[in-house]
Amino acid sequence: MTTFATGTDDTTRKRVLRTEIPGPRSRELQRRRADTVAAGVGSALPVYVTGADEGVLHDVDGNTLIDLGSGIAVTSVGNAAPEVVEPLRAQAAEFTHTCFMVTPYENYLAVCEELATLTPGEHEKRSALFNSGAEAVENAVKIARVATGRQAVVVFDHAYHGRTNLTMGMTAKSVPYKHGFGPFSSEIHRMPMSYPAWDATGGPEAARRVLDRIEKQIGGDQVAAVVIEPIQGEGGFVEPAAGFLPELSRWCAENGAVFVADEIQTGFCRTGTWFACEHEGVVPDLITTAKGIAGGMPLAAVTGRAEMMDSVPPGGLGGTYGGNPVACAAALGAIRAMRERDLAGAAGEIERRGLSRLRLLAQRSDRVLEARGRGAMLALELVGPDGHEPDPELTSRVAKACHARGVVVLTCGTHGNVLRLLPPLVIDPALFDEGLDVLEQSLFEQTG
Ligand SMILES: *Cc1c(COP(=O)(O)O)cnc(C)c1O
Repeated sequence: MTTFATGTDDTTRKRVLRTEIPGPRSRELQRRRADTVAAGVGSALPVYVTGADEGVLHDVDGNTLIDLGSGIAVTSVGNAAPEVVEPLRAQAAEFTHTCFMVTPYENYLAVCEELATLTPGEHEKRSALFNSGAEAVENAVKIARVATGRQAVVVFDHAYHGRTNLTMGMTAKSVPYKHGFGPFSSEIHRMPMSYPAWDATGGPEAARRVLDRIEKQIGGDQVAAVVIEPIQGEGGFVEPAAGFLPELSRWCAENGAVFVADEIQTGFCRTGTWFACEHEGVVPDLITTAKGIAGGMPLAAVTGRAEMMDSVPPGGLGGTYGGNPVACAAALGAIRAMRERDLAGAAGEIERRGLSRLRLLAQRSDRVLEARGRGAMLALELVGPDGHEPDPELTSRVAKACHARGVVVLTCGTHGNVLRLLPPLVIDPALFDEGLDVLEQSLFEQTG
């Protein structure tokens, strides 16, 4: 058994490897899974989890792994955080469901009030609650179409918006998200993204390139919505050059189009502010949220300008489970934890600790094209020995080497060549540093 001291005296929050990863019991469950779970549902690291806490996952073989993925940016407040679990338990004991569209309840209202307060802009706002990020994006498009009476939806290269039919069409990457699943919805128009690691075009200039295309190919007066992630998630943690987002947002305001910020991954303190749009003072007309909103419970929202949101008549938005009372109780707890524990500040601290180390790695290795990120959304983009060609094989090998050492990291990017770190915002700094040590060791081991 290998125990790694982490500087915390809580023995449950240490990396402990008792078996190889995945261990024998996980491998046994993996065999059982193959006979019962559809092959199309993948797992980045098939260790079977029995418990989790602030920055660690405990598995069926008695191993404890460092979690630098947060279940894809979800457990920002920690896993089974007391601020989430206690109200969730209390709500579940009162009632678990009525359907807000049948007989409503108060905590749905309280979540919408929090969303109105926390999202950028001082204007009058309304929200509608859903179950998943994809559902929120779909509903943002529905609302934008009714509000404008137009149909065209502008999306970007490398975008990720979900796996339902409409959002698959909005997502850029074919394999594995779209391949074979068409036909997709019409009136989706893809535009070039500002991607500073590969293209030095400045933000405003990159935006003008997009706007010129919109005007020539779609017609400015045909655009219902421009939908963009302020920092792209699955697409490779792509942070557009300064000025790109404000210019798109300004154009939307001038042309009667709805500017939709998909903050499903970047929202709720992940990037060091409540929402990533705040970094450049951009105020979206509609904002979609999910992932970090409810400490792991399924909840999503569209929040936006009252006159746009209210353009859809009663009955036009909803769903059986949308804004489930247990999920709403969890969200109120998660938001309280973010506020009281200053988790936006904690994300900034993770950036200060992590990004400098990743930048050093980039200087020391010619296989790292760029270290980048904001807050607790950090990435390394890896390339081949020529220093230019994206290297997904290397990326996958480094991720697997981290996994074997008990550190959960994820990959992303259109070319699959980006290693991404999404630690819980409450992670112990010593544990985070240890995860970075393992990443460094794994990178140099795999690049020789
Ligand atoms: C994860 C994600 C989605 C989809 O959310 P689901 O809950 O998986 O449907 C949409 N947009 C962005 C930016 C995401 O990161």
